[in-house]
Amino acid sequence: MEVRVFYNNDFELGKLIDLQPEGDIFPNGEALIYVVPSELEALISSGLKYQIEREDVKDFAENFWTSMDNTREAYHTYAEIVALADSLVAAFPDICEKHLFGTSVQGRELGALKITDNVTLNENEAEVMFDGGIHGDEIGCSENCIRFARDLCREYGIEPNITDLVDNREIWIYYMVNPDGRVADNRYNANGVDCNRDSGYMWDGWGGSSGVYSQPESKALRDCHYNRQFVVHTTYHSGTEYISHPWSYRSDQCPDYAHINQLAGEYSSSSGYANMEYGQGCTGMYPINGSTKDT
Ligand SMILES: [Zn+2]
Repeated sequence: MEVRVFYNNDFELGKLIDLQPEGDIFPNGEALIYVVPSELEALISSGLKYQIEREDVKDFAENFWTSMDNTREAYHTYAEIVALADSLVAAFPDICEKHLFGTSVQGRELGALKITDNVTLNENEAEVMFDGGIHGDEIGCSENCIRFARDLCREYGIEPNITDLVDNREIWIYYMVNPDGRVADNRYNANGVDCNRDSGYMWDGWGGSSGVYSQPESKALRDCHYNRQFVVHTTYHSGTEYISHPWSYRSDQCPDYAHINQLAGEYSSSSGYANMEYGQGCTGMYPINGSTKDT
């Protein structure tokens, strides 16, 4: 069941967080969360105001594409995104290489594109990483990744900024973290786990995670980090419009807070969106444990 919950102040927000809700809490005083009957009872007991948005989320997911005309055509499917990734490797072999890190619970591909000059070498260049699709129902994220990869490849040697980036960075684009969730149009992976609560740092058993890196999808994402020294990692969501940076697990500032916050500010001002908000995840959005962001 999908439920919209309302909070008016920090006290009510605290009550909401105590429920460890699955879903997104927005800065505007609302949250959109997913509950089973026992969780709905806990929500009712909390006294928070709420309204039920969808009684049957499964039915909604199964009929999603047919109930929203033309939306589907705007986004590539899992299979199309994999095909696009492969086509970039085939068309631009000098600058684009695919690396696989395993398969999902249901056997789908977990991979990333490495885009740089001298792509087969590990050069002394800053490594940067982007990923998308850890929440399968946030379908804009993998789209963002694969289109970015396509733009980098196609504009290389033509557009000076892109040429400079490809020549002087090693750019990793991990295009779909949770393909089973994407195919099922579901936030969770096929084991019902929120992969963005399954990471190792300050893991606390949220989101159905039974242990640190308990899922193949989060393990694969971790493996992509092994043997690489990413200086920036951007992970795309499409639940909330907010540039959220560490920490998410606590309100204290991280050691390199000033630098990270400055980067977030530059991202905001150059994003093309007016007033794109940014800030620390825990205080600007809400506390979570076991996120890829903190890890
Ligand atoms: Zn998300």
